[in-house]
Amino acid sequence: MFGITAGYHRYFAHRSYKTSRAFQFVLAWLGSSAMQKGPLWWAGHHRHHHKHSDQEDDPHSPVVKTLWWAHVGWVMSGDYRKSPLDTIRDFHQYPELRLMNKLHWGPGFVLAGLCYLALGWPGLVWGFLVSTIALYHGTFLVNSACHLWGTRRYATTDQSKNNWWAAVLTLGEGWHNNHHHYQSCARQGFRWWELDMSYYAIRALAVVGVVWDVREPTEKALNTKRLDAAEASGAA
Ligand SMILES: [Zn+2]
Ligand SMILES: [Zn+2]
Repeated sequence: MFGITAGYHRYFAHRSYKTSRAFQFVLAWLGSSAMQKGPLWWAGHHRHHHKHSDQEDDPHSPVVKTLWWAHVGWVMSGDYRKSPLDTIRDFHQYPELRLMNKLHWGPGFVLAGLCYLALGWPGLVWGFLVSTIALYHGTFLVNSACHLWGTRRYATTDQSKNNWWAAVLTLGEGWHNNHHHYQSCARQGFRWWELDMSYYAIRALAVVGVVWDVREPTEKALNTKRLDAAEASGAA
């Protein structure tokens, strides 16, 4: 999950912090081990989602299409098989990322093999198969539930919502209205009580110098486009 949230999402899709080329590869490897295709595919389509959020060209809007389509239909449809290289040119320049994007099943198979070697069949079933399927649905919830259910603090042009239970399940990605309001910052839980495990881990990596230039929400961004109290509580 960390490979998807801190790697594929906050690093590759949004460049919300900087790191070395070596750790960039580690993030790509970790993300790929979740079996959600390659980093260029994932981040490229995600940038598309932000650009056209809850409009006709959004690949997975539950508002324009259905909950099922946003959750899993768009992935299974075959319409989005190719990596949208036009939206991810910045990372496409790295040959090791292009290779990883092509051989994206590799890290997942390595993980499956390690689970089997460590704990036999139970390791493979629980440590890899069940956990990978659970992780799929965690990621998918951000695309489906977090555009349907929850509260809105910011007047974004889409229907993104802050959803606490999705945030717990996805290491902080459920604060999705915050995220659509200010996509380029590494922190998605803006309040102290908005649990954001991915952000805490990124900050810990910054303390030991593995990542740097971690983008924080500015005071101005935190206070612009605020919805009034009635709307913010979800009553509207
Ligand atoms: Zn979204
Ligand atoms: Zn995003």
